[in-house]
Amino acid sequence: MTVSNKLKLNLANLAHRQFRDDEFWRVIPGWSNVSRAEFSDHMWQMKHSIKKVDQVKTILGDLCTDSFYQDMQKGQAKTPMNIRITPYIFALMDWSDPINCPMRKQFLPIGSQFLEDHPYYEADSLHEDVDSPVPTITHRYHDKVLFLPTTICPVYCSYCTRSRLIGGSTEAVEKDTYGVNQARMDVAFDYIRSHEEIEDVVISGGDAFMLTAKQFTFIGENLLNIPHIRRLRFATKGVAIYPQKVLTDHEWFNALNGVHKKARDMGKSMVIHTHFSSPKEITMFSKLAMDRLFAEGIIVRNQAVLQEGINDNINDMLLLIKQISYMNIQPYYVYIHDMVPGCEHFRTTIAESVALEKAVRGMTAGFNTPTFVCDAPGGGGKRHVASYEYYDQENGISVWTAPNVKPGEVFFYFDPIRKLSKEAQARWADKASREAMIAAAKKKAGF
Ligand code: SF4
Repeated sequence: MTVSNKLKLNLANLAHRQFRDDEFWRVIPGWSNVSRAEFSDHMWQMKHSIKKVDQVKTILGDLCTDSFYQDMQKGQAKTPMNIRITPYIFALMDWSDPINCPMRKQFLPIGSQFLEDHPYYEADSLHEDVDSPVPTITHRYHDKVLFLPTTICPVYCSYCTRSRLIGGSTEAVEKDTYGVNQARMDVAFDYIRSHEEIEDVVISGGDAFMLTAKQFTFIGENLLNIPHIRRLRFATKGVAIYPQKVLTDHEWFNALNGVHKKARDMGKSMVIHTHFSSPKEITMFSKLAMDRLFAEGIIVRNQAVLQEGINDNINDMLLLIKQISYMNIQPYYVYIHDMVPGCEHFRTTIAESVALEKAVRGMTAGFNTPTFVCDAPGGGGKRHVASYEYYDQENGISVWTAPNVKPGEVFFYFDPIRKLSKEAQARWADKASREAMIAAAKKKAGF
């Protein structure tokens, strides 16, 4: 599809006010007798999560064709991410067309989807490990740290930027996945305590939905008790893929709310950053979970990832933005996809992201309009997608700086080679020629 076709907008409906509330899971043969009460229970969701290809086949029965099963098997040899899918998300996949389903694409890898990685991909494309002064901490921005207490999530996303760590080793990638560990946390807290410039802590991973109530309280209270810490952000995809946790795990919800209330009492803030990327992830379960969080005054913001075939057209992107806004989630960022392994099929170009950003702007209130950003490979941090220093669109080379993050350094983002002209693809195939193109782009940018 061309960029212009993807920007044709259908404004005629108010689909964002409709939340599906049918028993959609009953179309899955293995769950045809599962009641609403069972499906709504967070324990049932965890217990019946999909973790193996054979489980997919058993649960789908005749809905799983032999060719799709073989494609899943082939995917296991290539994917950097293991399978872990809540029944909620699995049942929202379109099993009449799984190859093209945006939900399947995000969470269930198949062999036929993978493309060759870009020559300049990196397992740690954002250099989080390079900017890590102690284990579990990345300190890149002056007043903010990223804290990764766990590398376990309730689902594993095929597009994960931390695939080097998250969710255990696969046939293709060896990883040092870890769970919550007291000694590591003590080191992290000591680091934060001894750096008075830090005001903001993002607790990510991994996923905050996998912290127990006790761990949530321990982490939240210890950080809030550090005098210079003003803001906590718990990052989780849970609201999108496991809303049952908010609705039925009362002990955990009370722990979360307890940290929120303690923060308020101290004149500080605790918010949730979540991660809806497709409007197809949204149902009445999402709305009810958000109603519960909103009733307690807990602020939730969204960070989506721009992905081909999932949200790279104006109608899906606008529906996503309007529907999460309707649920009182603030659309905060849309990230252009990081240059990590196994994700070339998801990536879009800088030009496409700029065009989509322009198309979205003005469709709703400014505070509900996300900023489209490129997280500059090499650790430059998040930059607005149109703020590059120079963009050689023909060869897909953009040049970036980050004066407040890494003064004096120059960063590059590269568009997917498959989206370039045949001539440009030929230039990329030759090492000397691509190095010359990059040097020329850098020079044109004035460096
Ligand atoms: S929830 Fe976040 S950290 Fe976990 S697999 Fe998905 S993108 Fe990665």
